[in-house]
Amino acid sequence: MRIKPEEISKIIRSEIENYKSSLDISNTGTVLEVGDGIARIYGLSDAMAGELLQFENGTVGMALNLEESNIGAVIFGKTQGIKEGSIVKGLGKVAEVPAGNELLGRVVDALGTPIDGKGSITADKYMPIERQASGIIARKPVTQPMQTGIKAIDGMFPIGKGQRELIIGDRQTGKTAIAIDAIINQKNNDVLCVYVAIGQKRSTVAQIYKKLEEAGALEYTIIVAATASESAPLQYLAPYSGVAMGEYFMDQGKDVLIVYDDLSKHAVAYREMSLLLKRPPGREAYPGDVFYLHSRLLERAAKLSDKLGGGSITALPIVETRAGDISAYIPTNVISITDGQIFLETDLFNSGFRPAINAGVSVSRVGGAAQIKAMKQVASKVKLELAQYNELLAFTQFGSDLDKATRDQLNRGSKIMEVLKQPQYSPYRVEEQVISFYCVTNGYFDDVPNEKVRVFEKDLIEAIRNDSNILNEILEKKSLDDDLKNGLDEFIVNYKKEYVW
Ligand code: ATP
Ligand code: MG
Repeated sequence: MRIKPEEISKIIRSEIENYKSSLDISNTGTVLEVGDGIARIYGLSDAMAGELLQFENGTVGMALNLEESNIGAVIFGKTQGIKEGSIVKGLGKVAEVPAGNELLGRVVDALGTPIDGKGSITADKYMPIERQASGIIARKPVTQPMQTGIKAIDGMFPIGKGQRELIIGDRQTGKTAIAIDAIINQKNNDVLCVYVAIGQKRSTVAQIYKKLEEAGALEYTIIVAATASESAPLQYLAPYSGVAMGEYFMDQGKDVLIVYDDLSKHAVAYREMSLLLKRPPGREAYPGDVFYLHSRLLERAAKLSDKLGGGSITALPIVETRAGDISAYIPTNVISITDGQIFLETDLFNSGFRPAINAGVSVSRVGGAAQIKAMKQVASKVKLELAQYNELLAFTQFGSDLDKATRDQLNRGSKIMEVLKQPQYSPYRVEEQVISFYCVTNGYFDDVPNEKVRVFEKDLIEAIRNDSNILNEILEKKSLDDDLKNGLDEFIVNYKKEYVW
């Protein structure tokens, strides 16, 4: 047998060319050091930024700092069993969460795992936690109202679908209460809700769960909970997970309301994580990208164009201030990203004016376009008279003699204050709000004693509902024409004559 050298060398060459090491080391690494919920990993040369990693003990982590010689990763969950030399596997995907109808009515953690003991979730789809916010062309101006059912907000600081309205105030001023009321008011409104709890007590979240259940609001709400007992990375992730779940519905053309409670604790969790990862600290020890942390989150709220289905995400971020200081670092950052803020005040809250909204500092920059005309007609007057009242009040504290015009204005202002008071869990429909504001600005409450204003208002609305068609007409016509006004005037005058005080 003749040996052909060319043939043999060809085979050898092709063998060498096609030689593959059976061990692929590019997506595994070893732990160099671990501590404080952070691991430094050697190897994993193919890891992406934000890629999910799995440690030997089953715990999941995320690659965050991709450095020349190693990777800084955060660990979601227990670190027992992870030690120097442990193997880490890259899972080849960036973090994503389950999304779909199955999540409604459930409580999940920041990774979408159910924590309410009601069994596992089979998701329609997995959504990436980090996603680029909708572009400019994909969006449409805000034109539809997002009713919160709270008179002071829907009247004076209306919110539109797709808007981002900040709720800001000191501790225990009713911030969460406003957000929960807004969620409860979406019943029968075809709006799905996501409530993201960041760094709160477990008991608080349990209470909110119970309240939503009692109000029948749980069935259209997802609760994403990263409580104070969870690690900082999970608290950091929670709002992005929540909005990813919301985006699934928005992409289907549905309307979503999302509450981030609260972003101050979110920033603190991010600061903790960044310092442990040895990222350089900046002002108040927050890392340099703390603005981007919130801007990329809030930019994901949007009203999509009709071509894309017309869905929307309305965001209600909450920020806690210290001693009413809205010029601190995180509050100013978030104020500058949002389309307005509702400012809650401790003094007002303690004096019994609840919801404790300071009308002078609160604004809504885009929602006015979304109000129905009837509301615009009556509410603009409320805002003006309230401002005048507050101004006069400051003057009259010195107790000088007042002329009749001033006394009348003060009297009117005090009735407006009464009308704006509203207990928790008792939303007003928009047509009912129109009637309240109409009455107070046209002087129908002027001779009603302050402590009776709210009872009388309730009875009056009830009577209008039972004995006339005015409420429906307001909804149909969407504005108060002369016919409607005359009918309303007549009804109120007659009703007042017969009312038993
Ligand atoms: P925290 O800073 O602890 O998160 P918060 O600002 O979210 O507090 P809430 O927990 O919403 O405040 O409310 C504080 C308390 O005030 C609660 O006991 C709540 O029931 C009560 N409260 C809130 N809003 C109203 C209201 N409109 N009428 C009556 N009570 C209210
Ligand atoms: Mg709260």
